[in-house]
Amino acid sequence: MKRNVLIVGAGGVAQVVAHKCAQHNALLGDIHIASRTLAKCQAIIDSIKAKGSLQQPGRLQAHTLDAMDVAATARLIRAMHCQIVINVGSPFLNMSVLAACIETGAAYLDTAIHEDPGKVCETPPWYGNYEWKRRQACKDAKVTAVLGVGFDPGVVNAYARYAVDACFDSVESIDIIDINAGSHGRYFATNFDPEINFREFVATVWSWEENQWKANAMFERRRDWDMPVTGTSTTYLTGHDEIHSLSQNLGVPNIRFWMGFSEHYINVFTVLKNLGLLSEQPVRTARGQEVVPLEVVKAVLPDPASLAPDYTGKTCIGNLIKGVKQGQPKEVLIYNVCDHSECFEEVGSQAISYTAGVPAVAAAILIARGDWDVGEMANVEELDPKPFIALMNRMGLITRIQDAEGDSVLEPEQHVACESMERRRANAR
Ligand code: NDP
Repeated sequence: MKRNVLIVGAGGVAQVVAHKCAQHNALLGDIHIASRTLAKCQAIIDSIKAKGSLQQPGRLQAHTLDAMDVAATARLIRAMHCQIVINVGSPFLNMSVLAACIETGAAYLDTAIHEDPGKVCETPPWYGNYEWKRRQACKDAKVTAVLGVGFDPGVVNAYARYAVDACFDSVESIDIIDINAGSHGRYFATNFDPEINFREFVATVWSWEENQWKANAMFERRRDWDMPVTGTSTTYLTGHDEIHSLSQNLGVPNIRFWMGFSEHYINVFTVLKNLGLLSEQPVRTARGQEVVPLEVVKAVLPDPASLAPDYTGKTCIGNLIKGVKQGQPKEVLIYNVCDHSECFEEVGSQAISYTAGVPAVAAAILIARGDWDVGEMANVEELDPKPFIALMNRMGLITRIQDAEGDSVLEPEQHVACESMERRRANAR
């Protein structure tokens, strides 16, 4: 049993993570929230109290922390006796927070791949550039480190693993489709950190096709999908974290990620990009000041967390999986629909933050209970997806499955056993 959670970061996703930890504090224990700005952490604690989210009376504490400082992070973990660290700060922090966990033995979770501020879109597979280099260190220290356990990456990895194990004899393709059919009512805004959001779209789009990496330009490949509830949406092939682990772990020849964009988003994005305003490289102004254009754009755009109160509509994110079962071609869609205003009502956040934060807490609960406390580094598809999907069904993120037989809630505990992590790694390579 592991107890006491340190949440790193105090943004939109941290708000959800903190509320969901509070709703399960009988199991998870004390809840600590740390970021550079104490007031942001305190505001989350105030909102937990205002909404009465604590399952039982318990400790909630805000801390000032620069999580790039490994020694300071390790000190905080030790001083507060935290055995689980949920890193939902900026992706630039991942390697530092992971180092602090390896030093202290705390379990580590994050929701996005590590990024170096000065580099955009490195060589695939991206996990090989940073995270997987620490795999042996985690194993030696018996540290459980669950990578990318938001929605995408995260839940979609579990959907992929579940489909491979339970629905098919062989899988030909996995198309991950991410639709936000909601409206925030602003002229232009991003749903999470603008700097991270834009970095996803400025460089090469990597996808996994015919068992190899394929490079495209952003907005080069377009496809319309008719999704449950949100209807028909236009998407574009986009580079995304989960392709970089699924391609290495599942042995599926085609894995692509499609994200929905409005014409308006593409127009604004294209203007910003063509003007050079999305560059991560510093420029010098006439007054001699050095500024990073992307950081300036971030500073003038709405704070993603501020969009939540007015957000309406729904998201639909899922995996369309095609393959063969008992000699017959088969197609399955595994998906979730989430409503922005219902999320705001429950935890004060919009659905993008909600769908990222709930899985991280579900994973923390599975680590606390022991189911996922594997004592090594794992991407989500390397872990048993069944308790994860089943737990999220009871935490506000309901998974549905659509196939030739119809559309129903996916209750995975009733289905097949999954292969061990070792066997799966051996089979995939
Ligand atoms: P925000 O930008 O809202 O929050 C980031 C937080 O990180 C801020 O509170 C900031 O606080 C904190 N932070 C930044 N630098 C430091 C530092 N050096 N030390 C301590 N804290 C720091 O981001 P979101 O909440 O929207 O996203 C959080 C993470 O979740 C990101 O990695 C994002 O990519 C990921 N994400 C994943 C999704 C998924 O489905 N997998 C979906 C959406 C997001 P302060 O300024 O006070 O330090």
